[in-house]
Amino acid sequence: AEAFNANVAGAKVLNAFIVETPDHAIAAAKQADADRAAGTLKPLSGVPIGMKDLFATHGVQTTAASHMLEGFVPRYESTVSQKLWDAGCGMLGKLNLDQFAMGSSNETSYFGNVISPWRRKDGGNAALAPGGSSGGSSAAIAARLCPAATGTDTGGSIRQPAAFTGISGIKPTYGRCSRWGIVAFASSLDQAGPMARDVRDCAILLETMAGFDPKDATSLDLPVPNWEAALSSDLKGKKVGIPKEYRLDGIDPDIDAMWDAGIAMLKDAGAEVVEISLPHTKYALPAYYIIAPAEASSNLARYDGVRYGLRDLPQGAGLQDMYAATRAEGFGPEVKRRIMIGTYVLSAGFYDAYYTQAQKVRTLIARDFNTAFESCDVILAPTAPSAAFGLGEKTADPLSMYLNDVFAVPASLAGLPAMSVPAALNREGLPLGLQIIGKAFDEQGVLNAGLAIE
Ligand code: GLN
Repeated sequence: AEAFNANVAGAKVLNAFIVETPDHAIAAAKQADADRAAGTLKPLSGVPIGMKDLFATHGVQTTAASHMLEGFVPRYESTVSQKLWDAGCGMLGKLNLDQFAMGSSNETSYFGNVISPWRRKDGGNAALAPGGSSGGSSAAIAARLCPAATGTDTGGSIRQPAAFTGISGIKPTYGRCSRWGIVAFASSLDQAGPMARDVRDCAILLETMAGFDPKDATSLDLPVPNWEAALSSDLKGKKVGIPKEYRLDGIDPDIDAMWDAGIAMLKDAGAEVVEISLPHTKYALPAYYIIAPAEASSNLARYDGVRYGLRDLPQGAGLQDMYAATRAEGFGPEVKRRIMIGTYVLSAGFYDAYYTQAQKVRTLIARDFNTAFESCDVILAPTAPSAAFGLGEKTADPLSMYLNDVFAVPASLAGLPAMSVPAALNREGLPLGLQIIGKAFDEQGVLNAGLAIE
């Protein structure tokens, strides 16, 4: 309790938590004491974690950082959070995020932006973005407010904030973690995963979070390997692919230098490094920004003022007026932008030109990876094209914000496991992350390469 109170001041400055739940964490700590005395300690007994506020938590407000769900208190628990409680974890609170997980800087939250604990070396006190959408998770871990947290990753939301704040995070293969009880953004892309200080902690948490769930139709019916036990930074006999299309013209030289240093580290660990080609890479971002909004526009149709959260019922209004008023008030500008793009690309007359095309591109991108993995075991690339940017720097131009996801979305479209590990500091003293992308179901290969870098 003391440690928690001491951290509250820091938590408030960063705005990492939307709701604090010290009683939950204290109960888990007490249970851990009892379990230790009884000789029944569980794998994560007493470990206090942060929960991204996209996971439904029984009896605890779950908002997706939106006005729409402000005050929504679920009567159920998400599968992933339940697994963490069953393993002994306690919850410090619900972590801030981009509204409905749409964003790359945590600035679209209804509850205000999160501030990264990092500062530029010569930048005075200028506040930086913690990345997004899991920006509360990344900031809280980087500031040592909690040792680990949950994240979700639809198009980079675990990896990019991890890279911006010098921590680790893994998005497993699509279907590894149940989506049941997680507020849906783009269901064919959404995946939960852990964020933590290092690769080993990520492996331990992922083992708990993963596993088949009959309540999620896309859940993988596969046993969960013991990833932690098999962790090894010995990469002898492994091949690491370097995708030539990721060498973007005009990219920050610090990013290129980090990439080269990472290649050297993997060679030192015994790996052979080969050049590979992912020829459709340049179409990944536009395809993602059609498919994700299309699915979002459908998923967010449920917020009609009837069943969840906010209801705005103007005096004398009918049903249609209530829908319109509720949605006008409950959704922020970025969410509205996505709904408008999504309904547009799904509308009769435009469906084939945009949505069908994007789905075809998605298939080509998945095939690119399949071909590449014939000649390598994992792929190494930067997580993001830049270090953390300043708050407000990209908010006026959504396209420049979207461009920050350029290296993250291809693995999402292909459903592959991908991880970010801290790899270097740039000239301004800010952390940069390297991304390891693996074959489907090969989280082990990803974690092992990550271990060789961190
Ligand atoms: N930044 C991306 C977006 O805005 C990814 C978000 C995510 O992975 N949830 O859609």
